[in-house]
Amino acid sequence: MRYPKLRELKEAIKCIFTKPATTKYPFGPAKIHPRYRGKPEFQDECLGCEACKEVCPSGAIEVVDDVKNKKRKLIRRFDMCITCGECERICTCKEGVKMVPEFAFAVFKKEDLTDIIERDLIVCENCGKVIATKKHILWLMENLKEKGASYLPFVIMSLKEIGIYEKVEKKTTLDKRQALFSILCPRCRHKIFLYDAL
Ligand code: SF4
Ligand code: SF4
Repeated sequence: MRYPKLRELKEAIKCIFTKPATTKYPFGPAKIHPRYRGKPEFQDECLGCEACKEVCPSGAIEVVDDVKNKKRKLIRRFDMCITCGECERICTCKEGVKMVPEFAFAVFKKEDLTDIIERDLIVCENCGKVIATKKHILWLMENLKEKGASYLPFVIMSLKEIGIYEKVEKKTTLDKRQALFSILCPRCRHKIFLYDAL
């Protein structure tokens, strides 16, 4: 019984002269491990493809499409996020979302618990249905390189982007064949090709 008591006393004296193992947070900065997985944040590189919404286990990501103004909003709700990191892991472009080493989620208003980004939408010029975001299509075009040219809507969108297609469109009157060179959803394109073949 004597020896353990002496050992504890020695340990107590040693602790007086050593630095505390804990930090003074919140009175001082918290020490965070470099690989700490904190808050997920949208980055400028985000394509707005909504793939992360599909895998989010807690439904923390909402996608709101404004077809009239051709805008898509991606809203991340931190009050629902469980910081699992799935959105970062499956991100289409690998740079669209990053888990930043931040853990303080406390706010006074619930509305402040959101991260919102906006992207331009491409809609079908015939039926008005959403096709994808402009950034997503341009990213596909860039990554597919010459193979991207086999998909007509990509080519038309790229021509419109650099202003060439607009000039052609103004000089001529639109007929049925020219409708082939519009940005169309797969359903409308299928219909036009079918009618054209008849
Ligand atoms: S970290 Fe997990 S829960 Fe949070 S938004 Fe990403 S996928 Fe959803
Ligand atoms: S690019 Fe990444 S972060 Fe952006 S919507 Fe797609 S999967 Fe989500």
